[in-house]
Amino acid sequence: MMLENINELLKNKDKKFALLFIDLDDFKNINDNFGHQVGDKVLKKVASTLKDSIGTQDIISRIGGDEFIIILKDIESDIYIKEVVLRIQKELKKPVTYNEEALIIGASIGISIFPEHGEDSDTLINNADLAMYEVKKNGGYDFAIYSPKMEHKAIDKLEMKMKLNKALVNNEFMVYYQPIMDLKSMKVLNSEALIRWRQGDRIIPPIEFIPIAKSVGEIIPIDNWMLESACIQCKKWNEIGSHEFSVSVNTSYSQLKQPEFVSLVQDILEVYSLPPKYLNLEVTEDEAMEDFETIINILEQFKSMGIKISLDDFGTGYSSLNYVNKLPIDKIKIDKSLIMNLETNYKNLTIIKSIINMGHSLDIKIVAEGIETKEQLRILNELKCDFIQGYLIGKPMEASEFEHKFIN
Ligand code: C2E
Ligand code: MG
Ligand code: MG
Repeated sequence: MMLENINELLKNKDKKFALLFIDLDDFKNINDNFGHQVGDKVLKKVASTLKDSIGTQDIISRIGGDEFIIILKDIESDIYIKEVVLRIQKELKKPVTYNEEALIIGASIGISIFPEHGEDSDTLINNADLAMYEVKKNGGYDFAIYSPKMEHKAIDKLEMKMKLNKALVNNEFMVYYQPIMDLKSMKVLNSEALIRWRQGDRIIPPIEFIPIAKSVGEIIPIDNWMLESACIQCKKWNEIGSHEFSVSVNTSYSQLKQPEFVSLVQDILEVYSLPPKYLNLEVTEDEAMEDFETIINILEQFKSMGIKISLDDFGTGYSSLNYVNKLPIDKIKIDKSLIMNLETNYKNLTIIKSIINMGHSLDIKIVAEGIETKEQLRILNELKCDFIQGYLIGKPMEASEFEHKFIN
């Protein structure tokens, strides 16, 4: 609804409006120290404070955990924006009392103004976000209006490269495992290895650093480390479990096209005596397309070694029958964005149906990712999908937990 409202306002270039991106400060502490119920109470209180601080024609929405966006319509001058912000800050300063404790809530507010800071919703939101981040960096509890200078504080590549390299040396990366269930036997005989970065007590998900690792050229050693770790783990699970067990590992384009990559994989399998059929390499659709002929060639080599190949994130990019046919793949993984609202989205259902049929006609097995509900499971079973992966079966977890739950 918020986006719709913004899009409506974008039509009139003569009318200025401001977008306030608000992120509460130290909200996590409230949740951690007082529990989620108190956290929820605080959010409600903040929401009503924010609502009371704006005009009746303005729009407020909650866009995530402790993030709000306010649209101030039809602003004559920046002074009005500042007035509102000061009002918000003043109101938020009044403590919320809980069991005789006074909780002080602060907020970091980033502001972008239409049309000078962006002419579409994405740019306006990103720029307000950037301004908000600037506030956070300086300790929070303040506001900032976007300025183009902020954009140029882009991450220092060299610094990031060193950080990632140090993370590897300092053993800060962890491998999480997510179960993949065979729908025929309802057994978990495969898992996907997913990387996590431990920084103090924070666990950083891959979307926050894999793209950066790729852009600073640090992805190859990281992915090679993942591959080796996952193979060691898989070997162990084959030894202690009573079933065959395989592991799926994500690859990246620059890793794949390393001239010595094929022999590296061969070495790893030999050193840990893991039969190749237990290793499944995942290649994303768009990375396979980067250099199609080269990738086919490399995948053929893996295939002839007996290693399995999955095409990952299928349905987000090209998804053309034409090239699926040419790639030597064993499995297609349907991206979770297609599964998300499967129950109500008839179009997605039709697409999934045809992916499954197409795959099966090419002797390719289908994995559906992001299964969260029993209804999704039921539908995919009906469509004769082969494997499912998703929170319904299990979230990505540490090896010890995975072993406890799924290796027997
Ligand atoms: P992916 O390979 O498509 O992995 C599946 C992602 O979907 C995982 O996110 C997983 O946690 C998430 N997921 C699984 N089931 C559900 C569900 O039911 N609901 C929802 N909402 N999400 C679900 P994760 O672990 O954050 O990884 C994100 C992406 O990062 C991966 O997508 C993969 O492309 C990349 N990645 C992860 N580990 C590595 C790695 O070691 N190397 C490389 N190059 N990329 C990696
Ligand atoms: Mg994957
Ligand atoms: Mg995927």
